[in-house]
Amino acid sequence: MSSLNINECKCEEEFGDFILNVGRQHFACCKLHETYRCIGENLFSGWLEESADLWRRNVDTLSIGRPRTPEDGKILLAAYADYCAPQAA
Ligand SMILES: [Zn+2]
Repeated sequence: MSSLNINECKCEEEFGDFILNVGRQHFACCKLHETYRCIGENLFSGWLEESADLWRRNVDTLSIGRPRTPEDGKILLAAYADYCAPQAA
C-alpha cells in the first residue's frame, strides 16, 4: 500500500491546487489528498461577484474532502451558516 504523506499535501502550499470561496472565506484544496484548509478571508475580491448558489456548490465540493485541521472544518461550517443557509420563507 503506497502511503501518501499528508504533510506533503499541496493545500499546505500557498494556494493548493485550487481555491474555492464560501462567502468571504477562501479554502485552498488539494486534489490528491482531498483535503482543504482555510487560507483567510477577504484576501481576493472575487467572492463579491459570486452567489450563494455557487457557495453551496463549493461547500458540497469541499465536503467531499477533509479539513486539514478541526479549525478548518469549523470555519467551513460557520461560512456555510453565514452565507449558504436557505433564506427563511
Ligand atoms: Zn495534498
